[in-house]
Amino acid sequence: MISFHTSLKGPEAKGIPARVSEIKTWTRSALSLKQDTTISINELACSQPGCPPKQVVVLILSKAVPARKFEIHKALLDISNDDVVNAVFKMD
Ligand SMILES: [Zn+2]
Repeated sequence: MISFHTSLKGPEAKGIPARVSEIKTWTRSALSLKQDTTISINELACSQPGCPPKQVVVLILSKAVPARKFEIHKALLDISNDDVVNAVFKMD
């Protein structure tokens, strides 16, 4: 399920669904998630000092365990597998 919504147009818009899908794959693999786990990815504004203007919030929803969440303080298209792995390690 892709819950990422964007009004972007042009070449950037094409890269976004692909990156959302990659981030889901990286999250699933970093946490060894089961296939029935839902991962929701949203790019939001970030107003913390010293941060890029965008952050990506990853929500992990499973019937079996409480929902979990982590943030990566980068724009969606700047996120790599390493960012996901690092964020997962720091998650509560
Ligand atoms: Zn931030």
